Amino acid sequence: MKNIVIIGAGTMGNGIAHVFAMKNYSVRLVDISQEALDKALKTIDKNLDRMVQKEKITASDKAATLANITTFTDMKTAVSGADLVVEAATENIDLKLKIFAQIDQLAPPDAILATNTSSISITQIAAVTKRPSQVIGMHFMNPVPVMKLVEVIRGYATSDEVTKTIMDMSAKLGKSPVEVNDYPGFVANRILMPMINEAIISLHEGVAGVEEIDTVMKLGMAHPMGPLQLADFIGLDVCLSIMRVLYDGFGNPKYAPCPLLVNMVMAGKLGRKSGEGFYTYTAGSKDVLVSAGFQKK
Ligand code: NAD
Repeated sequence: MKNIVIIGAGTMGNGIAHVFAMKNYSVRLVDISQEALDKALKTIDKNLDRMVQKEKITASDKAATLANITTFTDMKTAVSGADLVVEAATENIDLKLKIFAQIDQLAPPDAILATNTSSISITQIAAVTKRPSQVIGMHFMNPVPVMKLVEVIRGYATSDEVTKTIMDMSAKLGKSPVEVNDYPGFVANRILMPMINEAIISLHEGVAGVEEIDTVMKLGMAHPMGPLQLADFIGLDVCLSIMRVLYDGFGNPKYAPCPLLVNMVMAGKLGRKSGEGFYTYTAGSKDVLVSAGFQKK
């Protein structure tokens, strides 16, 4: 395993490229947008600079890491010769099925095809390829260079050998891989999202206010961030779409998304990325948040 192709150079793709390149893999980063590729390289450069400043790596490690990354807008050239493809494109099922059908045609027959999806079925993605035993979930967490966990998700047909290869490779990247089976939400989002949804239901029913709910979970449960603040950081649209995957997948009303969450997404209040969710975000700063003075609606 030497040649790694990452598809999608957004938030996750640039972080995944960063960690593979740091471990001296040859990384091809692919995106349909040249702008996304340029931005990804800038982000990786900036994140490596921070590591140099903190004396975690040397300036020559940084140069070697950047030299391991090449960018492409043409999927065909990029994927030929891949040992492993990690798809981290936009979370859209039709798009992912199209990409997997395409890379199945283009990648060498023994290549492993992995997806970083947060919520789409690995089994369904694998079924559009002629190599379902070589398709697997490799769910990195954001920010990828910092977060230790990789949820390694076995689809219905994923082989033991492929699972072991990806578990070993994740460990080589300095991560702590955990093997899970392919059911809606896997483990991370199956547990996290209902907790966030329940926090929104508590707010909706007037049990407590935004800051009160977050404070209970921070101080009482030692969570670094309250569930409503976390929802704002993840994006309320992303939270809603994962709740719908759980609801559709299990057919159990306990996963029904809170109507307040649905309303906020319809109103365009998506959290930090739109400037307002349960909190409002100070213009020009991603990190400083002030209470949105949330009113029950
Ligand atoms: P993003 O929107 O930041 O980036 C997606 C990138 O994919 C964009 O640059 C877009 O141009 C590119 N893209 C779209 N179609 C493409 C195609 N056909 N070929 C190549 N590139 C294409 O998204 P993201 O947040 O990085 O999420 C990527 C994946 O990672 C999703 O499946 C998401 O569920 C998963 N994920 C996200 C997070 C997170 O916190 N953001 C965490 C874990 C997993």
